[in-house]
Amino acid sequence: MRKKIVAGNWKMNKNLQEGIELAKELNEALSADKPNCDVVICTPFIHLAKVSEIIDHETIGLGAENCADKQKGAYTGEVSAEMVKSTGAEYVILGHSERREYYNETPEILKEKVLLALENGLKVIFCIGESLEQREKNQQNEVVKAELEGSVFNLSKEEFANIVIAYEPIWAIGTGKTATSEQAEEIHAYIRSVIEEKYGKETAENTSILYGGSCKASNAPELFAKPDIDGGLIGGASLKCADFKGIIDAWK
Ligand code: PEP
Repeated sequence: MRKKIVAGNWKMNKNLQEGIELAKELNEALSADKPNCDVVICTPFIHLAKVSEIIDHETIGLGAENCADKQKGAYTGEVSAEMVKSTGAEYVILGHSERREYYNETPEILKEKVLLALENGLKVIFCIGESLEQREKNQQNEVVKAELEGSVFNLSKEEFANIVIAYEPIWAIGTGKTATSEQAEEIHAYIRSVIEEKYGKETAENTSILYGGSCKASNAPELFAKPDIDGGLIGGASLKCADFKGIIDAWK
């Protein structure tokens, strides 16, 4: 059975003290009222080690929002997958559209990052999704297929078992414009069919596919009720404990 997951992506929003406060609040809230799904918080690098000490890892998983495409060495300012892992983190988000667009992360770079993350024992939340222009031209299926082929379909079946897919239509990220549950289900089912073609039915059925893009407590229940939507990757609404918990509770 595939996992139901709600993952937060804090992005570049909280300083260290604010991040610690949020992690403490969330840890308390979820210790008191256990979630019915896996919960992951993906934080900036600077928060990882401290947040790792605060959270109960049985209840909340920890992830980074990026890692380097190089193993080790003279790469000033970079943070390797091994370093991420050493903080106690279990996940890393790779392929987010903001990194593809603002930091020119190509499919080849992402392929390297994915391999290094897996080699270092991290699970990867791999983001895919089309732009508004591509959606208007009805190219969403070919876009997500190419993104999978470009960076993760080189993996063996065993390696692919450590990949969580996040479908995030770029036009829905941070815009308040959510894909309808029907639009999301349609493409999630397509993504699962592409995974089945590549790795077979069992792997496809076991792969968690999250929806991301202006997901909030009010629309999460409808999205999560769809058979191929296994949870959410949450940006803005992961920055306040009550908002994030409202989405987690959609699985109850
Ligand atoms: C994201 O960037 O991963 C995301 C889903 O953002 P938001 O929830 O703010 O749209």
